[in-house]
Amino acid sequence: MAKNIDWKNLPFGYLKTDYNVRCYNRNGQWGELEISSSEYIDIHMAATALHYGQEAFEGLKAFMGKDGKVRIFRWEENAKRMINSAKGIMMAEIAMDIFKKACFKAIELNKEYIPPYGSGASLYIRPMLVGSGPQVGVRPATEYLFLVFVTPVGPYFKEGFKPVTMLLTREFDRAAPLGTGNIKVGGNYAASLRAQEKAHEHGCANAIFLDAKEKKYIDECGPANFFAIKNNTYITPESKSILPSITNMCLFDLAKSEGMKVERRNIPVEELSTFEEAGACGTAAVISPIGKIVDSMMGQTYVYSKDGNPGPISTKLYEKLLGIQTGDIPDTFGWTEIVEI
Ligand SMILES: *Cc1c(COP(=O)(O)O)cnc(C)c1O
Repeated sequence: MAKNIDWKNLPFGYLKTDYNVRCYNRNGQWGELEISSSEYIDIHMAATALHYGQEAFEGLKAFMGKDGKVRIFRWEENAKRMINSAKGIMMAEIAMDIFKKACFKAIELNKEYIPPYGSGASLYIRPMLVGSGPQVGVRPATEYLFLVFVTPVGPYFKEGFKPVTMLLTREFDRAAPLGTGNIKVGGNYAASLRAQEKAHEHGCANAIFLDAKEKKYIDECGPANFFAIKNNTYITPESKSILPSITNMCLFDLAKSEGMKVERRNIPVEELSTFEEAGACGTAAVISPIGKIVDSMMGQTYVYSKDGNPGPISTKLYEKLLGIQTGDIPDTFGWTEIVEI
């Protein structure tokens, strides 16, 4: 039985569930999966995660379908990305089968928290990998904790699928081209907070970063990837400092399958004035349509939505992807997997 939760008004935030799943790697060996009912982890005060940023995470979702089946979305891609993140900051690499087992187990153990079909909510799955062993000198830990918790979440924006305004920041960089921008590590988020704060001060939802080296091209879009539409073409930036978004990969493939052209390439700032639609994409919101981009330092504003509504192509792609995730639209791509609960 589902818990007595006001599913329709669920925020995108943390709600306590009953269990989480953990696994330790000690001296290069993964141990057994452990089930915990504690929201806390007992961690050494000299853990590398706390001092030297050995921390990576993932975010994916599971959905209750109309048919009563629970579908998890593209977990293999998240597992592969977490392995890449681990490589990038010298952590023990999580094994694909442990990643899968832990996610599926966490869903099953907390099945009463899976939001019902039609509520607009979903079960967010948050795997994390942290250096839990102590080091005082700068070097990788010899102990790692992999943990998966789940929490039911409402739509990312309570206003729904509505265009947001973004601030083009020229004051801050999130990541360097040969740095850690392409892996999902906490440090990138810490580095993006001041830009986000500045965006909020300007009344914007978040900041769009420029490439750190030349300051010419559109890079990451807050905690999401940027895409734009023009001439029936889906365009998304090519960059070494962007996190490869799985949502973006899906939209790219969906656009292609809809007969659109697709381009992954540099997007110079000057091109912003030529786009018909723009958006930010990621697991949390799927697509946040961008209604406006404000380049306050250059005194420029680019407008993509005049009537306060998302563009037709963004809307179509959003509905398709969400439909596949919930099982409303047949998944011809093999992106979803049924979780037996
Ligand atoms: C997680 C993340 C994204 C979105 O990735 P998805 O796989 O689509 O959820 C985009 N940019 C950054 C910086 C991220 O951390």
